[in-house]
Amino acid sequence: MIEKETDIQMDLNVLEEVKKEKLEVAAEDEVKEKASSDRDKKKFFYSKKVCRFCTGQIKPEEVTYKNVELLRRYIMPSGKILPRRITGTCAKHQRHLAEEIKKARILALLPFLAR
Ligand SMILES: [Zn+2]
Repeated sequence: MIEKETDIQMDLNVLEEVKKEKLEVAAEDEVKEKASSDRDKKKFFYSKKVCRFCTGQIKPEEVTYKNVELLRRYIMPSGKILPRRITGTCAKHQRHLAEEIKKARILALLPFLAR
């Protein structure tokens, strides 16, 4: 019985650690732009991001200027296109994405600048 309790306690500890790590990663995304020197220190517990288009999570052909819902996820609230280092998108797909966002902007489906 005592053993079981310690096991549970250990599980909880592990959960806490995982939570902390997740929070750190989330926090890092936000400060990433300023803290480029900190990034080197943090890279040890940083999980590698993979391109969501390459992995098939999102089909590349879904990325069109018409798919505003999707494109909206790749722009900042201000209207800027999110950089590759934050979204993890590969160069090829980022290029395509950016082109489509720009087309959508011309058609006023997305903002050039939202205040
Ligand atoms: Zn890709």
